[in-house]
Amino acid sequence: MSIGTIGFIGLGIMGRPMAKNLIKANYKLVVYDKFAKFDDLLSLGAVGGTSNKDVASKSDIIITMLPNSPHVKEAILGSGGVIEGIKSGAIVVDMSSIAPAASQEVGAALKAKGISFLDAPVSGGEPKAVDGTLAIMVGGDAAPFEKVKPILEKMGSSVVLVGDVGAGNVTKLANQIVVALNIAAVSEAFTLSTKAGVDPQKVFDAIKGGLAGSTVMNAKVPMILEGNFKPGFRIELHIKDLQNALDTAHNLNVPIPLTAGVMETLQFLKNDGHAASDHSAIVRYYEQMAKVEVRK
Ligand code: NAD
Repeated sequence: MSIGTIGFIGLGIMGRPMAKNLIKANYKLVVYDKFAKFDDLLSLGAVGGTSNKDVASKSDIIITMLPNSPHVKEAILGSGGVIEGIKSGAIVVDMSSIAPAASQEVGAALKAKGISFLDAPVSGGEPKAVDGTLAIMVGGDAAPFEKVKPILEKMGSSVVLVGDVGAGNVTKLANQIVVALNIAAVSEAFTLSTKAGVDPQKVFDAIKGGLAGSTVMNAKVPMILEGNFKPGFRIELHIKDLQNALDTAHNLNVPIPLTAGVMETLQFLKNDGHAASDHSAIVRYYEQMAKVEVRK
């Protein structure tokens, strides 16, 4: 099937390299961001849109990559939004990490107009967005999923349909809980072993290949040992994801006490000037309590 034109809305840290990968794969793109400039994408051959509605009126598939639920609702359902310009038969794919209930609200509003919607959040961060090797978790119907899968495969190395609309973002919340708790566990353990006088580099070398080893440990311990907290994934974005996890869990009467604990650590770090630091700065909370630094 010919895909036609892809609209890409939200050209931030993640959306910009993802759009570039689609241009590289020879798709025709119409791009738009409400606040950020996008001249670099125009010089690569993309067409510039003038609003979210304008992008939708020129596209067969519309992809959004925005910060959180209110931005997605505004861009798709709001005044001058995608829903006002959308063509019949178009598919909307939201790749932002938002509350599953918001995905379902957007999906239902589009379905009432006969438009298919998929929630397709990603894991992997900026480096994998640049490489086109993101992990993409998708919620929605099989037919639109099969149509957009070749496009998603240009941005990710793993593309999995996990359930109905909202299931993509439920899966992403699970991902974000595991990552946050894993960084906290690594931080707690390395702060203790450093205070006990053991070289943290040697602790890392000794345990990374055992059961405690993880992708998170391999990615974050080298940053911690260097004292490099440049994002990466900002603390403030992880606060947003854990808030969505807590809201979703509490609506389902599911207690998530460990997530609640790490959320308070993140609140401390935000208050301590780390909102824009990488989430590996969770170690700074433990370091301040123990009066020790986990460094080479
Ligand atoms: P970002 O803030 O860099 O980019 C978002 C872009 O959306 C901005 O350029 C902003 O101007 C634009 N925008 C906001 N409201 C808009 C509107 N109404 N219409 C059009 N454009 C609008 O954020 P990001 O880091 O690219 O993250 C995007 C999403 O991906 C978030 O949900 C984030 O949690 C998720 N995510 C990020 C990472 C990461 O490492 N940065 C990793 C995985 C997932």
